[in-house]
Amino acid sequence: MSEKVGVLVDLEMCVGCYACQSACTMKNQLPVGKTYLRVVNCKPERVDGKLKMFMSPVPNNLERCAECVDAAEDGRGPCAKVCLASALDIAPASKILAEAELLGRHCALYL
Ligand code: SF4
Ligand code: SF4
Repeated sequence: MSEKVGVLVDLEMCVGCYACQSACTMKNQLPVGKTYLRVVNCKPERVDGKLKMFMSPVPNNLERCAECVDAAEDGRGPCAKVCLASALDIAPASKILAEAELLGRHCALYL
């Protein structure tokens, strides 16, 4: 794939369940504890005047993500498909940027 991939996390929806992180470990047959997508606690942020805590998956190897997206029939990372909260998408960067614009609320973007 010539286009870079991007990762979009809807911070308002992510409940920090770690399903995406586990899916990445399994999909890539990595040893326990290794992953290309680590769910972390974010620093507290002020949103609409209120201090809020968020959790977010953070990718650490977008080249591997590009291989996953390339191999997927629907062009989405397999980790995103297990997110029951619909909080995560990993796909070509142009699609991710368009989704981020539409989301219109607090999100994390990795390109
Ligand atoms: S992005 Fe989805 S699957 Fe991953 S930790 Fe958040 S809620 Fe769970
Ligand atoms: S798209 Fe990235 S984070 Fe998701 S399973 Fe593939 S390598 Fe892991």
